[in-house]
Amino acid sequence: MNFKELREEMVKEQLAGRDIKDKRVLDAFLKIPRHKFVSEESQSSAYADYPLPIGENQTISQPYIVALMSQLLELKGTEKVLEIGTGSGYQAAILAELSKTVYSIERIPSLAEKAEKLLNELGYKNIEIKVDDGTLGWYESSPFDAIIVTAASPEIPQSLVKQLAEHGRLVLPVGGKFGQMLVLVKKDKGKVETKEICGCVFVPLIGKYGYNQ
Ligand code: SAH
Repeated sequence: MNFKELREEMVKEQLAGRDIKDKRVLDAFLKIPRHKFVSEESQSSAYADYPLPIGENQTISQPYIVALMSQLLELKGTEKVLEIGTGSGYQAAILAELSKTVYSIERIPSLAEKAEKLLNELGYKNIEIKVDDGTLGWYESSPFDAIIVTAASPEIPQSLVKQLAEHGRLVLPVGGKFGQMLVLVKKDKGKVETKEICGCVFVPLIGKYGYNQ
């Protein structure tokens, strides 16, 4: 299977063909071997327009949603970014291409381990992963210029808003367990503004400021 061709087609049809215009985001998608982040059985579908299983009942989002969330963060290359929900590590790799440093938190140890191994193999040196409840954020490394939550939260965790830098951006799915609204939160002169982007479906965020289970 020619993965490079599939990647180019994915970027052209699913991303640039929709509303992904940030050239740095498109380049990151052209570069990263998404098929390495999914199970062997799913490799042939790695570049398709839908989410895929990554083990432990978790999923890697559809490429378009990963791209949309990345674009909303408006990264230029100098930022410190926090991701909640490392999962396969794919979104972390995209963020590592777009920013200076990525901190990523995963609650399931086996997923964190697998992601860390793959990201090391791919040569990423600017990603730090830890196993913890990400709803608490990563206080020691805060504030963050951008925060991305890749699991569905019942509400916007104020713990994360607090760890957002001035002019920072937070993107996350907010809502019920079976369907959510993608929300963009911006902090400007201490004021917090929120904007609804589109409907989406994510696995639940489980933790102190998320769902109980
Ligand atoms: N960003 C991932 C997809 C994540 S799926 C990727 O690119 O593959 C959502 C992930 O969030 C799952 O791995 C799940 O275990 C994790 N998760 C759920 N609640 C969490 C929490 N409180 N802290 C950290 N990770 C959490």
